[in-house]
Amino acid sequence: MIHDIAFVGLGNMGGPMAAHLAAAGHRVTGYDLAATARARAAARGVAVAGSAAEAVEGADLVLTMLPAGPHVLDAYRELTAAAARGALFADCSTIAVADARAAADLARAAGHRAVDAPVSGGVAGAEAAGLTFMVGADDADFAAVQPVLAAMGRRIVHCGASGAGQAAKICNNMILGVSMVAVSEAFVLGERLGLSHQALFDVASAASGQCWALTSNCPVPGPVPTSPANRDYAAGFAAALMAKDLGLAADAATATAVPAELGCRAAELFADFARGENAGLDFSAIIHALRKEPA
Ligand code: NAD
Repeated sequence: MIHDIAFVGLGNMGGPMAAHLAAAGHRVTGYDLAATARARAAARGVAVAGSAAEAVEGADLVLTMLPAGPHVLDAYRELTAAAARGALFADCSTIAVADARAAADLARAAGHRAVDAPVSGGVAGAEAAGLTFMVGADDADFAAVQPVLAAMGRRIVHCGASGAGQAAKICNNMILGVSMVAVSEAFVLGERLGLSHQALFDVASAASGQCWALTSNCPVPGPVPTSPANRDYAAGFAAALMAKDLGLAADAATATAVPAELGCRAAELFADFARGENAGLDFSAIIHALRKEPA
């Protein structure tokens, strides 16, 4: 049974996730390099430690929610030495499959257990405890971590062994990135052909062009009132995060000799788009780049 939880990385995602664990009755000790993140988490019931190493002392479960692979590997090098032997390490950050496997190897070499458990659902999902977790773990570790993840999410999918959670995450987001480009290109082509946004939506949303990028996150204002396009593309899912995830997918495709021509092209388009001031816009704002106009 997991009771004492260390939570390292209390940012936009980790902050609300740690708060849900505390609200569910776990003893949660957190740490973040940023004082503002520490203060926000403390206000939501998380005990804040003076360092990450202090946070993991005596923890049954060490959760990390950090920006990228190098942060996770650095943290694991330090924290696997500080945690009590046999602790379960669970990384929820989005990182490369190879980094997830390397992090799990570091934990196991120090006598711990390890799972990767990246999420989808964004900040809104983290706030609402409505995340989807994609878990790479052996059966016993999945059974141990599942009830804890259930306090932060609605769907918890066991995807396979170490690294399988990250693999599922980047494959899903490759589908999403490519489909958003495809939907946006179709709207731009429709505009040039004199087709209204609503007419294209009414046809495609009930036909074989139907997909999440069209019916939930429609890149033009109007047809889907809740989509970010209706609020000047305020994210939503930030273009910089889509660029990051597609970069991980493209690297994984190269490493495994998978051509993934559309995924790699989408990675280039989002990397170009998300440079500078577009980084924080919703990823559906890519439609501006495809029209070749400023966002
Ligand atoms: P964030 O930048 O808001 O939070 C990351 C936090 O980690 C920051 O507060 C930072 O100070 C802290 N940090 C960095 N290094 C640290 C260290 N060594 N020790 C302690 N704290 C450290 O980012 P976020 O939006 O919360 O995203 C976290 C992860 O979740 C990323 O991997 C991201 O790709 C993934 N993710 C984000 C979203 C989203 O919509 N924001 C959705 C799905 C997945």
